[in-house]
Amino acid sequence: MYQGPGVKTSPDFPVPDKMKAWVLGNPGELKLTEKPVPVPKRAEVLVRIDAVAICATDLEIIDHGPPASIQGGMPFNKNFTPGHEYMGTVAALGPGVDEYRIGQRVTVEIHAGCGQCKRCREGMYTSCHNYGLNYGDVDKGHRANGFTTDGGFCEYQVNNINTLVAIPDAMSDEEATLVVTAGTAMYGLTELGGLVAGESVVVTGPGPIGLLGVAVAKALGAQPVILTGTRDNRLKIGLELGADAVVNVRNDKDAVAAVKRLNGGKGVDYVVECSGAPNAVNEAIRMVNRGGKVCLAAFPHAETPVDVAHIVRNNIYLYGIRGEGKSATHRAEAFMSQKRFDATKIHTHTFALDDLPTAIRYAKDRVDDAIKVVVKARGVAAHRVAAE
Ligand SMILES: [Zn+2]
Ligand SMILES: [Zn+2]
Repeated sequence: MYQGPGVKTSPDFPVPDKMKAWVLGNPGELKLTEKPVPVPKRAEVLVRIDAVAICATDLEIIDHGPPASIQGGMPFNKNFTPGHEYMGTVAALGPGVDEYRIGQRVTVEIHAGCGQCKRCREGMYTSCHNYGLNYGDVDKGHRANGFTTDGGFCEYQVNNINTLVAIPDAMSDEEATLVVTAGTAMYGLTELGGLVAGESVVVTGPGPIGLLGVAVAKALGAQPVILTGTRDNRLKIGLELGADAVVNVRNDKDAVAAVKRLNGGKGVDYVVECSGAPNAVNEAIRMVNRGGKVCLAAFPHAETPVDVAHIVRNNIYLYGIRGEGKSATHRAEAFMSQKRFDATKIHTHTFALDDLPTAIRYAKDRVDDAIKVVVKARGVAAHRVAAE
């Protein structure tokens, strides 16, 4: 029977001893296995995972390893379960937890900082100085599920209560998986200064963070909000999420000139760079006006040459952001539960947990114009193609 020291369970939510879990073998290789259901410790709860979205970072981890770090090294062949954008139902409470109740629906943010380093004390827990130090005889209390500890491509996971966000019944499982994505966009805008009402904002790159960046910037009152990208179908979704104008940089080769044209001939106040394109930083620093701010929310694969002289001469600020810090997920969830924007416009496909490899193929190859692909352990029939 499932139990642990000081752990509270409920007969309404029986918890099994074992669960289905996908684990990472060699690069690109996922295997469906069985693992013991983890047991929450102090300040933790057990979450029954009801839905998990696939993120570009998951694809990166599964194929290449970083930014996951398991036992201080690459995540391969270590019985590691990836997946980090999940939501579910509280199924058991660790010792002393009274902040949540069994049966409550929650979504999660990723980073549980150590709570004792300089950055955690400043509220910057996504930049925890003890990142990944939670193995062997070192346990600083840091967890980033799906990065340094087991994640969400399974049926149950333990989460620190600081990583939970309560959600209303009216929010669907699929929508709730998108709170952390909107939270990342919210964190970027927070770091840029937060008060963007009436300020001009460009978002470059209509991936999930860019599209929800448009939605969050608009919900915060920014004007105009301009989205640049290369795919018309995604730019159209940007317009539906609140962009005042879009620029297809495939047709309009000079993106900087196009942005200025749309902003009365002037540079904008802020750029949120979500494309990771090789020339994106040099374009972004020319899209902003003097004293403007640029948030870098995507990472290019290669080192990027940057025109430093232009940055210095024009007093431009550059911000690198990691994850969804400073409780940004709570602010994003507030916008979503008040229906200030409809994040479900970026959810395109749902598969059963058993079909994770197919779901990953859809996300990676953008099959059928896939944007956000979700897998669910319950309520979705698995494809039995191989058996027939
Ligand atoms: Zn992610
Ligand atoms: Zn810390």
